[in-house]
Amino acid sequence: MREESWEKVQSSLKKNLSKPSYETWIRPTQFSSFENGELTLIAPNSFSSAWLRNNYSQTIQETAEEIFGEPVTVNVKVKDISDGAKDLPISSGLKSSTAVATDLPNRTLGEDSSKLPKKSSPLLNLRYVFNRFVVGPNSRMAHAAAMAVAEAPGREFNPLFICGGVGLGKTHLMQAIGHYRMEIDPAAKVAYISTETFTNDLILAIRQDRMQAFRDRYRAADLILVDDIQFIEGKEYTQEEFFHTFNALHDAGSQIVLASDRPPSQIPRLQERLMSRFSMGLIADIQAPDLETRMAILQKKAEQERVGLPRDLIQFIAGRFTSNIRELEGALTRAIAFASITGLPMTVDSIAPMLDPNGQGVEVTPKQVLEKVAEVFQVTSDEMKSASRRRPVSQARQVGMYLMRQGTNLSLPRIGDAFGGKDHTTVMYAIEQVEKKLSSDPQMASQVQRIRDLLQIDSRSKR
Ligand code: ADP
Ligand code: MG
Repeated sequence: MREESWEKVQSSLKKNLSKPSYETWIRPTQFSSFENGELTLIAPNSFSSAWLRNNYSQTIQETAEEIFGEPVTVNVKVKDISDGAKDLPISSGLKSSTAVATDLPNRTLGEDSSKLPKKSSPLLNLRYVFNRFVVGPNSRMAHAAAMAVAEAPGREFNPLFICGGVGLGKTHLMQAIGHYRMEIDPAAKVAYISTETFTNDLILAIRQDRMQAFRDRYRAADLILVDDIQFIEGKEYTQEEFFHTFNALHDAGSQIVLASDRPPSQIPRLQERLMSRFSMGLIADIQAPDLETRMAILQKKAEQERVGLPRDLIQFIAGRFTSNIRELEGALTRAIAFASITGLPMTVDSIAPMLDPNGQGVEVTPKQVLEKVAEVFQVTSDEMKSASRRRPVSQARQVGMYLMRQGTNLSLPRIGDAFGGKDHTTVMYAIEQVEKKLSSDPQMASQVQRIRDLLQIDSRSKR
């Protein structure tokens, strides 16, 4: 009955959307349920669902309201978040396990799983498993420590303190420990909580005079994963309670894993005794991934989404998003969505303008600049990236930096990177030099113009 209504919604959308948009996003989306004004749809994969949510939820809502004749909220789910059993070896273990995510209020850790409502599978993200984590030199130690802790909790590294910048995989790694532990020991009591949840639960427990229940709950875990512990900064009472929780768990031989965007010593207003507890096990950090690792991550994501990506496009995306894996993933998702909407091929030329992080449109790629400059100055790209001070090389390098600034939206430090890791002050100096010489050195001016023509960079473009 309602399913037929969804078909009506679809045909109405078909009239109002372009054919590629309809075919790509709406047609493959299936009806799941309509209850209490909530229309739940099923998208074939995660990027379609994100795309639907971000771009079509309002249109769908309005159309559905018209057809259903009542207020509707739209909810999009992913068909099957696993790509196959081999990728998610423990999904069945999750259901049978007594593990509980205490991110939901009033959930009792250690409670008999049969008493839990069906929907209570832990709030561990099914995608955050070890075999979806690409290990690079930046994360090797944290990854090894995480595996060790999952295999033999409460022994060597207790607590394990994972630290690293935003979007570098701390939560992923931490949850992978939880998944893996439950796979090895389905009876393990694993708790994943954010520091915020701990704080909120604590406040609630105090208000409701249920401190004992609060303590019993948190102290029953065999493995506790506490995310974003840096948020404990300055919260005196939370620190006090967490200190006791920590000690109780540690004394009982339970494994504690903490994640933070900085090491314990750099969390401001953290009690000395907590700092020393946090540092008594192993502090493992995750650094920003290098280019090769970023490329491997993109490659893996593309395989998971079952899309073919040419190597130069992988390299291009990996070159643009350097310091945050979440953004790197986001760029790939947008590229895939963009290609499927527009029908354009997955190539650097078609995808680059869309991926420009500053939204200004990218005229050329850094690689193209290097190649054309090398051609005109008769040097090689490698020479420009080297430290050579040979005159034609250093001239070419300066012009290259200048044109890269004009033709791309790379920041000065990123331009420095493109030239083999030169300092941004060197880039700045180079740009000034070229600007000066352009009015005094006709030969240089004509060389620069020639490269501009080759690259089709507009000389009036930004600087
Ligand atoms: P953090 O908690 O450090 O801010 P997350 O763990 O949330 O970062 O990671 C951000 C996104 O990047 C997630 O979607 C995660 O799966 C992905 N990611 C991070 N590191 C890796 C990695 N090494 N391999 C594959 N995906 C990764
Ligand atoms: Mg996180």
